[in-house]
Amino acid sequence: MSLTKLARENVQALTPYLSARRIGGQGHIWLNANEAADSGEYTLDCTRLNRYPECQPPQVIAAYAAYAKLSTEQVLVSRGGDESIELLIRTFCEPGQDNIVICSPTYGMYAISAQTNGVGIIDVPLTEQRQPNIDAIIDQLDNTKLVFLCSPNNPTGDLVNSADVSRLLEAAAGRALIVVDEAYIEFCPESTQAGLLADYPNLVIVRTLSKAFGLAGLRCGFTLANPIVIGLLLKVIPPYPVPEPVAQIAAQALTEAGLATMQARVEQINQLKETLMVELRQHPQVQEVFAPNGNYLLVRFTEGAALFARMAKAGIILRDFANRPGLTGCIRITIGNQAEMDAVRDVLQQEL
Ligand SMILES: *Cc1c(COP(=O)(O)O)cnc(C)c1O
Repeated sequence: MSLTKLARENVQALTPYLSARRIGGQGHIWLNANEAADSGEYTLDCTRLNRYPECQPPQVIAAYAAYAKLSTEQVLVSRGGDESIELLIRTFCEPGQDNIVICSPTYGMYAISAQTNGVGIIDVPLTEQRQPNIDAIIDQLDNTKLVFLCSPNNPTGDLVNSADVSRLLEAAAGRALIVVDEAYIEFCPESTQAGLLADYPNLVIVRTLSKAFGLAGLRCGFTLANPIVIGLLLKVIPPYPVPEPVAQIAAQALTEAGLATMQARVEQINQLKETLMVELRQHPQVQEVFAPNGNYLLVRFTEGAALFARMAKAGIILRDFANRPGLTGCIRITIGNQAEMDAVRDVLQQEL
């Protein structure tokens, strides 16, 4: 009890992020964390593990810059996209004073990272069309340093449009950074906002190897931004954020062969997603299938809880969003491999 009281007040008040892993469940088919069904094969050279790694392994930075069509000064590598989010908040937001803007429903880590760092959260919910409410965000620009947009949005799958992002970037010039989280952009690469980096120094893009690259266990993510922003983040990042084995595997994932593997995975996932979407739309218990732009589908069922339980009984673990505002009956299904989707289909087709 007294140990708890020793902790910082905002930490005492904190509800930790309930990751899919922490929620857990009984099952053998894990479709609750937007992971890939396979990771690919990699080799490790362990002869240099006696040395500390480079803070920003040059081969990884060069490979990601080439992949993203940017210069190496516009790229930062970190311990997953989550560390990028955390670094942005720690670099730009004054604890007890500054706020971030989020647009709910969205990825939970923006709020968690803000809370753990004593930074306030202003929620400007998505509009009925599930788009960021640009005018309402602009109204908050004097109260915030960072605006988090997620595109494709987790869990709704919607994309932001470039005209909206540009308008926001212009209004925010010199006042706030606009962060576009593109964790799932490989599933719809034509929708990236990275092209705007050339025109807007206050744009930041978050990326990861956890989703399309199939490397959630690696913990490797990227921040794409103006070199000045990257330089500021480098002041805050720990000295050795990317372990040597992580750097080696990330570099392999970003070779021509690695990118081809990723693209083949994306193609397969997108096909399985299309098929599942068609079936879901014909299902009598499905009210709505949300935007299909990531490696997941958010689905509104007439009896969400019952469907979730039936899947769980069959060993299929999904992610329940039913208790989020506006998402009554909604369950998120990660697109796994063919066999996993067949198992989902079997449950969906069961007689009730
Ligand atoms: C998965 C995810 C991330 C980052 O994941 P890491 O595994 O930390 O790289 C960031 N944003 C969104 C929206 C995600 O779904």
